[in-house]
Amino acid sequence: MTESDKGFFGKFGGRYVAEVLRRPIEELEEAFHKCMKDSDFLKELEEIRTDFIGRPTPLYHAKRLSEQLGGAQIYVKLEGLANTGAHKINNAIGQALVAKRMGKTRIIAETGAGQHGVATAAACAKLGLKCRVYMGEVDVRRQQPNVSTMEMYGAEVVPVTTGSRILKDAINEAMRDWAANFSDTHYLIGSALGPSPFPDMVREFQAVIGRETKQQMAERGKKIDAMVACVGGGSNSIGFFEPFINETEPLLFGAEAGGIGPGKGNNASRMVGNDAVDGIMQGFKTRFLQDEDGQAGQTRSISAGLDYVGIGPQLAYLGETGRIKFEAIKDDEALNAVSVFAKTEGVLFAMESAHAGALALKLAPKMRKDQNIVVNMSGRGDKDIFITCPVFRPEEWKVFLQAELERLNAGKDIHFAASMAKNN
Ligand SMILES: *Cc1c(COP(=O)(O)O)cnc(C)c1O
Repeated sequence: MTESDKGFFGKFGGRYVAEVLRRPIEELEEAFHKCMKDSDFLKELEEIRTDFIGRPTPLYHAKRLSEQLGGAQIYVKLEGLANTGAHKINNAIGQALVAKRMGKTRIIAETGAGQHGVATAAACAKLGLKCRVYMGEVDVRRQQPNVSTMEMYGAEVVPVTTGSRILKDAINEAMRDWAANFSDTHYLIGSALGPSPFPDMVREFQAVIGRETKQQMAERGKKIDAMVACVGGGSNSIGFFEPFINETEPLLFGAEAGGIGPGKGNNASRMVGNDAVDGIMQGFKTRFLQDEDGQAGQTRSISAGLDYVGIGPQLAYLGETGRIKFEAIKDDEALNAVSVFAKTEGVLFAMESAHAGALALKLAPKMRKDQNIVVNMSGRGDKDIFITCPVFRPEEWKVFLQAELERLNAGKDIHFAASMAKNN
């Protein structure tokens, strides 16, 4: 376990919070460390991982693709086969379980694209906790499928109307709620960032991905030469890399959102290029994409989950020490990777994960046939049909949406909607 020194990773990390949040954070830190040494807690976590999340997730040799590329063997960790479709459930379940041990009855969370909200809502439904998700009003409008999924799981989604009405405003609102209600409420942060101990906690709950991968490759008698993960806030990557961070091998690669290319506002590359600067926001220090006034800058990416102005502090640190090599993958390269893995291997990558897939497609041909790359498919791509269909089949998709709208306007489902409303 790589413990951060007083919450710092080099100059990054820390705990820059208002006085009112000191106590809840200290209580959380103590409870987390107690849980991680408590065999009853670990047993319950293990059972939920097996029976509810569906762990271990498979590790898969992409044989046809590896042969086609003629270089290193590509293996894919199919994290997207976890219940709810992505790795975020690992952290949501872990933190919700800690909260329950602390006697909390209510969970709050922030969400941008809605993926973390969905995972949190599912975890709360499973564990019988009340759940409120703060989401910028702009995101609520853009991400209706995830909003309705959260509501299906019984969560209350609260549109945030302050500031620019996006993720950062939802985080501020969640912090405010936590400060006012921490006696019964836990704030469940969605990635390996925020004030200490969140980066440590999220890494530990996601490290199950890396530990399984290590064991699954060892069982096949294979050495890992390189590992590749996509990096938004950094939770799937830091969990995937965790068992190897303090080793010199394998090579570790992080794929950032390169958007439409270099230049301020065109991407979400915090490590590649010179657009990010050291700053303190949302309770911790890291590299942030900022505008001229030091406010959160504009970002751009085809994948909502990689589209964040900051990066987990430990990843920023490991990037600066050179342990993790970062590369920016552009939108079109990620789309191409979705198509290549789907057609050659029958696995549908989420847009985020496809950034890692695209980087593996670049690395493999430069390596030897007896070397092995493992790619983390952090999520599956079913959720992305609203992004991929307009790209791959634009005309048919338009016709489909139009027909759907006409069908809804004709009101044929209305009697059904009314009876569901009555039953709820
Ligand atoms: C949210 C998300 C990411 C990015 O978040 P990290 O914290 O960097 O892992 C990546 N992949 C998928 C499928 C996601 O939902």
